Amino acid sequence: MVELKTDTSIEAMHAAGQVVGRALTAVREAAAVGVTLLELDEVAREVLREAGASSPFLGYRPSFAPTPFPAVICASVNDAIVHGIPTRYRLRDGDLVSIDCGAELDGWAGDSAISFTVGRARPADVRLIETAERALSAGIGAAVVGNRIGDIAHAIGTVCRAGGYGIMDDFGGHGIGRRMHEDPPVPNEGRPGRGLALRHGMVLAIEPMLIAGGRNDYHAAPDGWTLCTNDGSRAAHVEHTVAITEAGPRVLTER
Ligand code: MG
Ligand code: MG
Repeated sequence: MVELKTDTSIEAMHAAGQVVGRALTAVREAAAVGVTLLELDEVAREVLREAGASSPFLGYRPSFAPTPFPAVICASVNDAIVHGIPTRYRLRDGDLVSIDCGAELDGWAGDSAISFTVGRARPADVRLIETAERALSAGIGAAVVGNRIGDIAHAIGTVCRAGGYGIMDDFGGHGIGRRMHEDPPVPNEGRPGRGLALRHGMVLAIEPMLIAGGRNDYHAAPDGWTLCTNDGSRAAHVEHTVAITEAGPRVLTER
């Protein structure tokens, strides 16, 4: 069931979203060659603590997961696409890092992700990240009253495919509200004009996941969480929580 949010609830979700935005900004500023992923997790924990927010990631255990998630961010490096568990791994020159973060404040959730490079960036990584960001913008642009879920999916998929990239098909965006994952699913590829009609008060997490090698094949790392490309190619993941309003799409996790 898709729950429509009141304008008051959207304001409350914006407050949660701003905590996520601040956490991601702080993590990105802290990320540098030699810094560990666990240190980045600690940076995000501190932002959540200061805001009085809790983490919907910490202890999260969906059906596919072998263990409760142990951190407040997912940190996915290079060939890791999403769901990376922060470890003692030290960032190296030229790494491509995707950080996903959530926060719960006053009973409302926010969810957002960024991809960036550390040190000297490879041109191919810059292009991959820029395409992911353009796909996200296209998806947000299609999140308007009168459109359908398929229009968002089509907008995202078109940008990704035009770049020659693969799209993860088992994972994608989702409704969000009091819980991080709500209906409806928001796929990253689809047919325009299909699916649920978008209405004022729907709040969606829109999140393209792009695979540089152009395929959709991936596997779980031994930790059971981190999803890595089969061909070893790099991946990018960007996400915003977006409210659909009569006045147009409103990003609630801006940075
Ligand atoms: Mg996320
Ligand atoms: Mg999400």
